[in-house]
Amino acid sequence: MQELETVKSNDTTDVYSEVLKMFVGTDNFRPNIKQPFFSEDYVIATDAMVLICFKKELLKNVDFTPAENPPNALSIIPEDNIEPIVFETTALREAIKSLKEKTGKTYNIEESECPDCHGINFVTYKFKDSFGNQHLYDLECPVCEDGEGFFKIKNIETGETIESFRELLRFNETYFEVDKFESIVKAAELLSINQIVLTSRKYELSKHKFTLGECTVCIAPVRPLKEDIIENINPESE
Ligand SMILES: [Zn+2]
Repeated sequence: MQELETVKSNDTTDVYSEVLKMFVGTDNFRPNIKQPFFSEDYVIATDAMVLICFKKELLKNVDFTPAENPPNALSIIPEDNIEPIVFETTALREAIKSLKEKTGKTYNIEESECPDCHGINFVTYKFKDSFGNQHLYDLECPVCEDGEGFFKIKNIETGETIESFRELLRFNETYFEVDKFESIVKAAELLSINQIVLTSRKYELSKHKFTLGECTVCIAPVRPLKEDIIENINPESE
C-alpha cells in the first residue's frame, strides 16, 4: 500500500495572506482591485476606502492571482506628518462593541418585504412612445439592491422611519465607517498587535495613515449625517 504523503508544511496558517484578503474590493465594476497586487517590494490590497500595504516577503505563499492594471497605490500613501498617536487594539474593539450596542438601542431594524418589488427583486418600467405604443421592461429593483433584504429602520425613541444610517467611529472631528475601520482592528488582532498608531493626517477628511506592526493602513474618513450612530475612539492616555 502506498503511504500517503502528509502536507504538514501547510498547517501553519499564512496570517498575512488572511489579512490581505480582508482589504480587497468587492465591486465588480472595479476588477483591478478585487485581488491584492504587488508594487516594488510591497504587497497591497484596497477597496478604495481602506488600503493595507506591507513587505511582500511577509507572505508565506502567494495564493492569489495579482490584480491586473492596479492603481499606483504606493503614490497615494502619505508621509508621516504628525507626532504618533497611539490607540490600544482592545480599546478600539471595545468602542466598536459599544457602537453596535448604541445602534441596538437607537434603531429597531426589521427585515421586511421590499415595498416596491415585493421581494421578487424585479420591477416593471413602463414607457409610452409618441405613437401610443406601450413598452414594458423588467429590471432589477433599485430599492432593494442585489436581492438583499429590505430593512425597515425605525428610531425607537421618536418612532420615525428612516431609509438608512451608518455606524461611525469618531476621532476629534474625523469620522470613519465602522466596517472599514474594523478591518484594521481585525488585522491587528489576527497579527497579535496591541497598538495601532496614527502617523499621518492633514485635516478632518484627508486620508489617515496608521501603522500596525509591519503593516501600513490608509483609511478615508467620511462626513457624518444626521441619522448616523457615532462612538468616540480615544488614544491611549499618557
Ligand atoms: Zn425591491
